[in-house]
Amino acid sequence: MTQDCIFCRVARGETDSEVLHQDEHVVAFRDIAPQAPHHVLIIPRRHIATLDELGPEDAPLAGHMIHTAARLARDLGVAGEGYRLVFNCNRHGGQTVFHLHLHLLAGRPMHWPPG
Ligand code: 5GP
Ligand code: ZN
Repeated sequence: MTQDCIFCRVARGETDSEVLHQDEHVVAFRDIAPQAPHHVLIIPRRHIATLDELGPEDAPLAGHMIHTAARLARDLGVAGEGYRLVFNCNRHGGQTVFHLHLHLLAGRPMHWPPG
């Protein structure tokens, strides 16, 4: 954990984020600037800056993040219509917060290719 990382602060419960799920390993909460009717971020409690830092030992954690997103989509009632999961990595990926996070976007049709 780092003192000044905003998502570490979310993980510690120090912000007023709307948390939809939390367990020993991950926290899921609504994005502050939603890009779709449902926009949820799934983060590991442990500070990992980017996808580029992920090691083979982190594969179960990454799988748990994806499974958590899929389960939330079902719970939110959007799984049938569909949704998009996104990891942005570093500058060209459009990453702005350097604590690993998985975006769950749902509630409207998504376009392809992304911008
Ligand atoms: P990125 O561009 O790094 O993939 O995504 C970062 C996301 O975090 C953005 O969608 C942004 O709106 C969201 N975000 C940034 N700061 C906060 C915050 O303090 N609280 C919440 N809930 N979301 C945040
Ligand atoms: Zn962090």
